[in-house]
Amino acid sequence: LMQLSVPLNFIGFVYREIRQGLTDIEQMFDLLEVEPEVVDRPDAGELAVGRGAIAFRDVHFSYDPARPILKGISFDVPAGRTVAIVGPSGAGKSTISRLLYRFYDVQEGAITIDGQDVRAVTQKSLRDAIGMVPQDTVLFNDTVAYNIRYGRPSATEEEVFAAAEIAQIGHFIRALPEGFDTRVGERGLKLSGGEKQRVAIARTVLKAPPILILDEATSALDTTTEHEIQAALDTVSKNRTTLVIAHRLSTVINADEIIVLRDGLIAERGTHASLLAADGLYASMWNRQREAVQAEEQLRKVRESD
Ligand code: ATP
Repeated sequence: LMQLSVPLNFIGFVYREIRQGLTDIEQMFDLLEVEPEVVDRPDAGELAVGRGAIAFRDVHFSYDPARPILKGISFDVPAGRTVAIVGPSGAGKSTISRLLYRFYDVQEGAITIDGQDVRAVTQKSLRDAIGMVPQDTVLFNDTVAYNIRYGRPSATEEEVFAAAEIAQIGHFIRALPEGFDTRVGERGLKLSGGEKQRVAIARTVLKAPPILILDEATSALDTTTEHEIQAALDTVSKNRTTLVIAHRLSTVINADEIIVLRDGLIAERGTHASLLAADGLYASMWNRQREAVQAEEQLRKVRESD
């Protein structure tokens, strides 16, 4: 028996080693697991866009099943209107824009555009209908003109210039050493976050889509830049269905509806005035941001007088 137990122990040892090895491999695959790519259904049709009314119906979503991000979100962006999503950092605001653009699919509920479920149409036709101004625009290592024309490759030079004016970036580009022929991107001139965002807006002006998603840059912008971006956006979003993912509240004052997201649910909704009057989460966010802006301005004044 003694003779037999040694090899059995040994086998047990080997077995445990192998099990441990397998667990490590399983964990490794978990780590390597890439987001399941969203694919077109075999019967996917083209999105037929009229004026681009958006509806979120009881949308549930999580990146990781253990941590739900959206827990039943319903709202409408009526055709031609602007709806802004606000809320604390990490509330799931940008996730909403990624779901509309269909980087991911909802796990429950549905998102529709003019009554068509975004999962039932081709991604190409969906994305053709949407102009996305992301938080951080990646520019091609090419000229400014190329980067703007990307919105509609057939655009003429005059149209590129006009789009830059509408996006409030024309004066900046004209002042560059080589104007619209200046090379930008990683290997060219580095643009600031606000400048890149205005290039992205110019692109969108050329694309002229019925639907616009603006995922505002999180980084703080100076007041002048902020006003310029706001003016650019007011022009492009006119008569377009617009979803604004707002990290700064100054951009949402004129939205037709403001949705306040908290812990994956809609905590409050209304206009800027009605939400301030309600004196809830939005009002406290607003007061905090205003105090921060005032403190910053005071600091600047002190520095300037030095
Ligand atoms: P902020 O105002 O800080 O930009 P947000 O409200 O836009 O925040 P989201 O970007 O929607 O927040 O992220 C919501 C939550 O989901 C965060 O906790 C974030 O860490 C998590 N998250 C975002 N993207 C992923 C991802 N690709 N994989 C896993 N978790 C993610």
